[in-house]
Amino acid sequence: MKKPALFIDRDGTINQDCPYCKDPEDLHVYTDAVDIISKYASKGFLIIIITNQSGVNRGYFNVKELQEFNSALIRKVAQMGGRIDDIFYCPHTPEEKCECRKPETGLIKQATEKYEIDMENSVMVGDRDDMDGELARRLGINFILLRH
Ligand SMILES: [Mg+2]
Repeated sequence: MKKPALFIDRDGTINQDCPYCKDPEDLHVYTDAVDIISKYASKGFLIIIITNQSGVNRGYFNVKELQEFNSALIRKVAQMGGRIDDIFYCPHTPEEKCECRKPETGLIKQATEKYEIDMENSVMVGDRDDMDGELARRLGINFILLRH
């Protein structure tokens, strides 16, 4: 059976934003983000991070470093009582004009190819209306603005 998803941004929404975050030592996870994650997880939603990580193709960090930071984030969220099911990221710079950099919808397409998602009841959470909010509008789903 299809499940709705809580699509959630990473930097500035779940964890404190730092310029091109890559060091797990800089990881600070917001409790209100974990509260939202836990609430939707308990309602049967998939919890999927959708994140632009142009630092990869800008050469600021590599995919291995990105994955280590993501693993630390997943562990921390779990320690705080939440859960992350998957992470989809865009490694491209804006100049590459890809189809996955938010607010483009390519990462959501990747998620729907991997999981059976009830899009109609899915929700997007993020700290930027021009990126996360715009993505939600393009998908026709509800948006929760979470800023810190
Ligand atoms: Mg953000």
